Amino acid sequence: MNALDGSPIPVASRQSVACTCALASAMLVGSCALAAGKAVPEVGGSDSQPDDTPAITLRLYDYVNLSQAVVSWSEATTTEIFKRAGVRVAWVECPVSTRQLRKSPACRGEMGTTDFAVRLLTQPMAANLVAINHPMGLAQECPDDERGCVANILYPRVGELASQVPGKVAFQGQGARTAKILGHAMAHEVGHLLLGPNSHSPVGLMRGTWSPDDLRVMNWGYRLFTPSQSEQIRSGLERRVKLDRLAKAQ
Ligand SMILES: [Zn+2]
Repeated sequence: MNALDGSPIPVASRQSVACTCALASAMLVGSCALAAGKAVPEVGGSDSQPDDTPAITLRLYDYVNLSQAVVSWSEATTTEIFKRAGVRVAWVECPVSTRQLRKSPACRGEMGTTDFAVRLLTQPMAANLVAINHPMGLAQECPDDERGCVANILYPRVGELASQVPGKVAFQGQGARTAKILGHAMAHEVGHLLLGPNSHSPVGLMRGTWSPDDLRVMNWGYRLFTPSQSEQIRSGLERRVKLDRLAKAQ
C-alpha cells in the first residue's frame, strides 16, 4: 500500500535508517492525515537541466508551520544540491490538516518509486521518536521498488544547528540561516532514502556529524553529494523508474 495516499502514515511499522547526525530508530506515533497541496514551481534554475535528467518529487509536510519564505528558501537549497548531483526536484507542498485533504489531489495521488515525503516535525512529534545521540532526522529504509518513502526532519534540532553557525547572522536574518541548514538537512535525509543504509561519508553533505565548518559552508554555500554518491543516486533512480514501469504494466 502506498504510505502516502491520504491515509495515516504507518511510520512506526517501517524500518528506519539510523545515523549519528541525524537518524534514529524511531517510533513516531499519531496520525498524519495528509491534506491539500500545491505544486511548487521549480527553483534554483532547474529548468535549465536536460529533459532526460533523473527526477524526484518531494511532498513536503510542514507540521512546524514555518513561514513561506523559510520553506521556499529551504526548498531552493535542497533543489540546488540535487541539481548539482544531476537530479531534478519537483516539490509539492501538502497541508497537514485532515479537513483539507479532500481538496488536494496532488497530495492524495498514488506515489511512485521516485516520489518521497519530507516531513518537518515539531518538538512534541519529535519527542515520540527514540533518539540516538542528537538526531536531526529519520529516513526509512527505502528499497528501489518501495513507493512513497518518508524522511522525517526533527525541526528543533535543525534550529539548534542553525544557532551554532559560526559568524554573524547575515543581513537576511536568522530565518535565512535556518532555511539553509534545513535545506541541507532535507537533502541529507532524502539522500539516505536514495543511497541506502550506512551511507554516511567522511566528506560532503553525507557526513554523519556536521562540524562548525560544515555549518559555515552550508550557510554561505553548499555541502554537496560526492561525485560517487551523485552517480549512485542517478543510477538508483534509473532502476526505480524501471521498476515503477514494470509494476504499473502488471
Ligand atoms: Zn545521516
